[in-house]
Amino acid sequence: MRHLLLAMLIVCAAVSRSVGQSPAAVDWTAIEAETMRHFQALVRMDTSDPPGGEKPAADYVKSVLEREGIPVEVYALEAHRPNVVARLKGSGRKRPLLIMGHTDVVNVDPKKWSHPPFGADRDGGYVYGRGTVDDKDNLTAALMVMLMLKRGNVALDRDVIFLAEAGEEGTTRVGIEFMVNQHFAAIDAEYCYAEGGGVTREKGAVRFASVQTVEKIPNGIDLIARGPAGHGSVPLTTNAVAHLSKAVAAVAEWQPPIDLNDTTAAYFSRLAAISPPEQARRYRDVMTGDPKAVAAADAWLRENEPRHASMLRTSVSPNIIQGGYRNNVIPSEARATLDVRMLPDENPERFLAQIKRVVNDPAVDVVFNGWPQTTTGKPRNGGESPINSEAFTTIEAAVTKHYATTTLPSMSTGASDMAFLREKGIRCYGIGPATDVEDGPKGFGAHSDQERILETELHRFVRFHWDIVVNLAGAKP
Ligand SMILES: [Zn+2]
Repeated sequence: MRHLLLAMLIVCAAVSRSVGQSPAAVDWTAIEAETMRHFQALVRMDTSDPPGGEKPAADYVKSVLEREGIPVEVYALEAHRPNVVARLKGSGRKRPLLIMGHTDVVNVDPKKWSHPPFGADRDGGYVYGRGTVDDKDNLTAALMVMLMLKRGNVALDRDVIFLAEAGEEGTTRVGIEFMVNQHFAAIDAEYCYAEGGGVTREKGAVRFASVQTVEKIPNGIDLIARGPAGHGSVPLTTNAVAHLSKAVAAVAEWQPPIDLNDTTAAYFSRLAAISPPEQARRYRDVMTGDPKAVAAADAWLRENEPRHASMLRTSVSPNIIQGGYRNNVIPSEARATLDVRMLPDENPERFLAQIKRVVNDPAVDVVFNGWPQTTTGKPRNGGESPINSEAFTTIEAAVTKHYATTTLPSMSTGASDMAFLREKGIRCYGIGPATDVEDGPKGFGAHSDQERILETELHRFVRFHWDIVVNLAGAKP
């Protein structure tokens, strides 16, 4: 208890020092009640994407900000899918900080939910509903930080820009791409905090915090086998299905080389430092120059921790295979589609040539298939946001303060909206509240049919978010 009190006093002292407020300025009990009110209101809006109808959430956020006297701009490519931007002005001594969350959520199958997906039911210390951990948590936290900055009249060195974006779940055309391509001046910043990280709890105890600093670049490659069509009663050595099968097997068997970047090297060494000896050895082995140790650790990770294996390299997963249309016809074409997740410094053309060598069959074409589609027609790649930046070290300090744990910079294997911003030179860091590692397999995670958040962790995340924004953007003497 004493420890807790002492910690709270330090928190208050830190806040008062950095922003010139009295320690009593933030009434956390009132803030928690207000956080819950906004959070529930936002979760109760059905903003499923597709079809996408973020307007109610955008209107809500806009009215909350305006009621506080914070000016708001609305940018919409489609009227029912607006993006909301608000800015609190700083002294201009430093470049702006962007904080953002997305208003849309993935679809639901209401029959599968025991709590209604848009009910925001509070039960047993949790709030249940679609978007509770993706991304109405980040949205609400960023909103609360804006309100608190304004009420406290906090002096800022940086402008703090708030963005509630539409279309993150698959229609970036109306969301981040629209903002980046048409209204970049409204959101241009030195740093950005958004979704994509989080704190991992195991058996109720915090284990580590991960902060997304880079992400892999999605790319689609098709293998197309061609050969003469014919009667199935007369087998041909040129059979397209047979050639394709060999090609797919060869690609699946092959492993692209391991290549660590600053983020993944720091990730595995920091993870090793907090892991049991057996696991720690594997994380360290992949970073050694000893080919035997690397191969053994890699094989173990591929089998047991496939996400970690994917973080080591550009990955290839054959996900669609098609060819043929009737029993007695040899088809003239068969096609397989590979989901390729490239390391940010991968050379796409060189990688394609490498796949051709692995396939090693002139009857099989290897081509990029144009996935994923972006408005500019090319995959996005922002590279790594550095882990020695002021924005990252600010997060690390707040993680230590609020969660007393290690911060792991992480490269996500999937894609997020931050790639569009990183490509424009904004250094982005993905953060998030604490969730229980056991929740995913039990079906309570993001995109699941029982998505939920611990109330205490929502509130801790708001306090954490407040600290990182005040410490990064607040006026320093
Ligand atoms: Zn999300």
